[in-house]
Order: sequence, then structure tokens, then C-alpha cells
Amino acid sequence: MDGDLTMASNTMRIPNWINGQETQPENGDWLDKFNPHNDELLCQVADSDAADVQHAISTAAAAFPAWSDLTPVKRGQILGEIVAAMKRRADELAECIAIETGKPPQDAKGEIDGAILQAEYFAGEGMRLHGRSLTSGMPGKYSHTVRQPRGIAGLIVPANTPIANIAWKTFPALICGNTVALKAAEDSPRIALLFAQLTKEAGLPDGVFNVVQGRGQPAGAALVTDERVNVISFTGSTGVGRWIAEVGGKRLARVSLELGGKNPFVVCDDADLDQAVHWAALSAFSNAGQRCAAGSRVIVFKSVYEAFRGKLIAKAQSLKLGVSAGCDLGPVVNKRQQQSILAAIETARQQGGRILCGGSAPSEPELAQGYYIQPTVIEGLTPSAELSCKEVFGPVVTLHVVENLAEALQLANATEYGLTAAIHTRSVDRAMWFAQRVKAGVANINMGTYGSEPHMPFGGFGASGNGSREPGVEALDVYSELKNISFLVRAG
Ligand code: NAD
Repeated sequence: MDGDLTMASNTMRIPNWINGQETQPENGDWLDKFNPHNDELLCQVADSDAADVQHAISTAAAAFPAWSDLTPVKRGQILGEIVAAMKRRADELAECIAIETGKPPQDAKGEIDGAILQAEYFAGEGMRLHGRSLTSGMPGKYSHTVRQPRGIAGLIVPANTPIANIAWKTFPALICGNTVALKAAEDSPRIALLFAQLTKEAGLPDGVFNVVQGRGQPAGAALVTDERVNVISFTGSTGVGRWIAEVGGKRLARVSLELGGKNPFVVCDDADLDQAVHWAALSAFSNAGQRCAAGSRVIVFKSVYEAFRGKLIAKAQSLKLGVSAGCDLGPVVNKRQQQSILAAIETARQQGGRILCGGSAPSEPELAQGYYIQPTVIEGLTPSAELSCKEVFGPVVTLHVVENLAEALQLANATEYGLTAAIHTRSVDRAMWFAQRVKAGVANINMGTYGSEPHMPFGGFGASGNGSREPGVEALDVYSELKNISFLVRAG
């Protein structure tokens, strides 16, 4: 059964998943989860507290010895079965994501496909998980490294791309031999439950993967503070990440942080303007701007500024809002987020920003109840204005004019973040000069500010993270310990 359909209220309840079964919150409390498209009650979510988290951690601890004893190849085969189940149930998973997050169906399907690729890549890692063989200064000594699991992985994810976020962390954690307690996002609870059920069907032993639903405080925080959790991987806002770094760091847990971004998108005077507009609009507005890698600051050379601005406004105004097939963007995930984006736009207006298009919630009757924001383009803000520097996590982009590439780079590097960046130019010299110098973990040329793949490291400089990189082979450094084994061979 998938969730508990309480007959009295007819409201679906999404419980925790502990030791291979649905588990009710010990305090009996539930949170309301609303449909982002129409503000109707969608389901109730377990409002878990520390007791539920401790239960999940104890369960993961009990499952650890047997799971970590399996060979990586065997673990990879089990993960391969999960991949097959994800493929079989892709439509059902996509439908769940579309409803919970308000994503148009093709975007939800695209997200599942991305999650499957992640899963496939790390299932295959069971046949690699390479160590190194090392030379030695001592005659007869041979040395090599092996990767060993850390223990219990506490994974905390946001709702913006829920199944991709779950796959991103769960598969590398499991292939390395860890067991997992995952704190699902309060706005995407059911996809976490569906995924957990699917892991059981695929043959993952009970207790190896556990899900706790609920809020950051108290549920997420209880995962961070528990001494038994050896590695914490968190994707979310920079403020929460700072707190996790402090608390997890104090008890010497390994902490991997994937945090916010205010990603620059530079358009040079030799760019193909139509291509630049195409990628700028995708970077700024896809997934309703709810992407850490959203291109939310567009920096344009003065000589092409007017032409670019006109095309970008036309593009933004042509985008179709809604949740049906073919729509370009849906609502943001909850009302609090919608209100905070509208407030950020109002502040920008007061600080001298000119709203070139959008700037408010749409008034069409079919969208008016949902948490929609019109694609918004703002110009005239100084580089230090709040909206020029602060992540809004919505379909809002600011335009900035520069004279040359040096000024573009200076502006690109002017925030505390450093996640991704893009530049549009026909000049290899300009592109490489910029890519080498921009403060970003990902630098793209003639593309969007996003587009990482499962085998590519993703992560940021500055306030965008703490130096770790997931996914790619680099994720193995997050979820495993390296051990150096040496032995001495005597001649004869
Ligand atoms: P958020 O920080 O509010 O919440 C993220 C998750 O952390 C949720 O599950 C939440 O319940 C939990 N949480 C909140 N407070 C906590 C606490 N004190 N202890 C433990 N867990 C806690 O972020 P959000 O608004 O849900 O997500 C948007 C943010 O995520 C943006 O800043 C975005 O840039 C970032 N993000 C980063 C990446 C990346 O890879 N760098 C990817 C996606 C999203």
C-alpha cells in the first residue's frame, strides 16, 4: 500500500518508512501538504520528531553489518534491480512528482530519466570502486588503497527535483556500503515513500534505506546532531548549511553541503543572440527558477544590450504557465515561497529596479489559486542591490550592463556564491579566459548555467558549498573512507 488513505477525512497520509515498512510518526502529528497548482489539500505528511529519527538511525545501524559485508559487486547488482524497477515504474513516479511539485509532465519525466542515469552510474560503480596501487621506498613492501563504508549516512534533500536529489545521494551512499536515513523534503513526501517501496520490491534488505518525513526542525536537525550518523549530505539553503557545518563539524562527522547559487550568465557582443536568449530563458525560468543552478543574473555587453533585452522579454512573455503537457513552467512549490519571491520583487522595485515583464502572480482564473509567478525580468539594479546578490529560487532574473569582459568577470564574481556560470561568445580566447577565472564549480560555454551529468562533479565555491563534489567518482570520497594497506614480502 502506498500511504494510508484515512477513510474518515479521505485524505492520504504519507508516513515514514523504517525497516522496510510504513511507520506512523510516534507523536501522531501530521502536516498538511497542498497542491501547488490549486492550493487544495493534497495529503498529510508525518510531522516526525527526534524519536522517529532515532528509530530510523537505530534501524540503519542494525542493517549496516550485513549490508557492508556484501561485496561491492553484489551491492551493485541489487542497486541494478532498483534501476530496473525505476524504469518499469517511471510513469507512476513522474506522475507523483508532477502532482507534488507542480511540474509539467515532460519536466517530471525528464527528472526521472536523470535520476535513473544517476542510479545506473553508481550501480556500475560496484564493479569499479577503484583504489590505487602505490610504490614504496622499502624493498619488498607493496601498498594499495581500498574504499570502506563510513557507516550511517544521513541524507537531507529539498523538493525542487525530488527524485533526482534522492538518487544523487542514495546510490553513492549505498554502493559504498553505508546504510541510509533520509530526511525527505516536506513538499515532496510521497515520491520518497514510493521510491522506498520500490527499493524493497527490488530486493534491498530491510533497514538499509529508511525515510523520515517532516520538517527541518525537528526532524532534519535530529539527523545532524545524532552521534551515530557518520556522514551527512545536505542539499538546501546556505543558511541551514552553515548550521549543519557547525554542528556536524563539531562532532567530526563528514559533512557534504550542496547549497545555493546566484549564477551569472554572460552575453558578449559576439554571441549568437538567439542562442543566448534560448539558454538564458531556460537557465532562468525552467523548473520555475527553483534550481540551485538557475541563471538568475544576466550580464550583457552594452553594444548588444538593447537587442538582447528585447528578445529576452519577448521570450519570457511567450512562456506558458501551467501543469499540462507542453507548459513551460509550473508554480513554485509552496505559498510561503511564492510570497517571499513577490516580496523580493517588491524590494527590488523600491531599490530602483525596473520590472520589464512579469513581476506578479498571474491573474488568469485557472492559475490564480496556484503558487505561480510570472517569468520576471528586472533591470536597473546596482550590483549590490539585494536581488542582484541574493538567491530567490523563483523565475526572476536581473539584467546588468557591462562595457567589456573584464567588467563582466568582476560582476560575475561579485556575490558570495560560486556554483555555476555560463558565457556566450564566438571567441575561444574570451570563453577560456572567463571560464578559468570565474568563481564557480561549473563553467559552461554557449550553454545554460546547468547541465551536469552523473559522471561529472558538481558543487560550488564560496557560500555554495563546503568543497565536496557529488556526483561523479568524487562522490565516493564523500561516502567512503580510504584505507592504505601495505605488506612486506620476504625473498625466498
Ligand atoms: P531548505 O534549506 O529550507 O531545506 C532543504 C532541506 O533541509 C529540507 O528537507 C528541510 O526540511 C531540511 N532542513 C531545513 N532546516 C533544517 C535543519 N535545521 N536541519 C536539518 N535539515 C533542515 O532549502 P529549500 O528552500 O527546501 O531548497 C532550496 C535551496 O536548496 C536553495 O538555496 C537551493 O539553491 C538549494 N539547492 C542546492 C542544490 C545544489 O546542488 N547545490 C540543489 C538543489 C537545491
